Amino acid sequence: MKAALIENGRGAVLREVERPKIGKGEVLIRTVACGLCGTDVERIRGGYVAGRSVIGHEVAGIVEEVGEEVRWLRRGDRVVPHHHTNCGECYYCVNGSPTMCPDYRRYHFDPGGFAEYFRVPEFIVKRGAIYKVSDSLSLEEASLTEPLACCLRALRRSGLREGWTVAVFGIGPMGALFLELLKSLDNETVAVDVKPPRLKFAESIGVRTVDASRGNVPEDVRSLSGGRGADLSIVATGNSVAILSAIKSTRNGGTVCLFGLPPKGTKVDQDFSELLVREVSLVSSNAASEDDMVEALRLLEERRVDASKVITHRFPLERFEEALEIFESGEGMKVLITP
Ligand SMILES: [Zn+2]
Ligand SMILES: [Zn+2]
Repeated sequence: MKAALIENGRGAVLREVERPKIGKGEVLIRTVACGLCGTDVERIRGGYVAGRSVIGHEVAGIVEEVGEEVRWLRRGDRVVPHHHTNCGECYYCVNGSPTMCPDYRRYHFDPGGFAEYFRVPEFIVKRGAIYKVSDSLSLEEASLTEPLACCLRALRRSGLREGWTVAVFGIGPMGALFLELLKSLDNETVAVDVKPPRLKFAESIGVRTVDASRGNVPEDVRSLSGGRGADLSIVATGNSVAILSAIKSTRNGGTVCLFGLPPKGTKVDQDFSELLVREVSLVSSNAASEDDMVEALRLLEERRVDASKVITHRFPLERFEEALEIFESGEGMKVLITP
């Protein structure tokens, strides 16, 4: 079968490899769609800091084979597997930090989602972290479950309330999902970016925008949020200028959520007395729990979040390099690999 794999010093390379063999408690899935994520690109380009070099995790597919001990799945099931899951028993799990569980990043798809087939390890199967998708939802849209789950977790950690105005900094694929999700929750939203196609995307779904390439971003955000500033600013980019700008654009007593992963070693020049004087809270959000996965899939299935517009490009595995180029150009939103 074909698979895009990371090879040392060469980035991602398309290879002909053997189809994975599964054990008694494992599952083999045929990939239907797998979204390119910023973390995949960071892994490919050599800048990733939070895990191993397995690429392709925003995936949906069809069960091809189940191990003899797996009773609750069968060949032909349409599913979204979660690439990481927690143990459910350790200190972190029982104290509200499932994504900080020491087991959370221990297991991976083999060889990853950018392959015709991949193996789901027993730990993930045992924890039930494979979700059946109803026939009403396409598997392409279902592949957005994991990224949407990450957005849900970020809003929960930020203590989002009804009536809050939320500024989203960085309208890439994740920023775009935040906009769709916030729309479904009836929160006023302001989109901030520098790239014209991204601002245009936000406008096309009815979101007010601030062009960060000109003018004064905090002033512009304030004028679109009752003169106070955003109640919540989500930084859906790792750009340190956006982090500083988000803090300045947040109202007194408001919250800034760090969501996009900055490059390792990023330092920002922020006067911390301002945070206390203005009582601005900083929170961060990393990955998604199983509860978030379940809720995200439900929102997609019930069409409460319309993810279809967020998917702008589809490429077969053979054109993986081209897909990467489109992703990095910032022209598109979600780029899917459909092997
Ligand atoms: Zn992702
Ligand atoms: Zn745990």
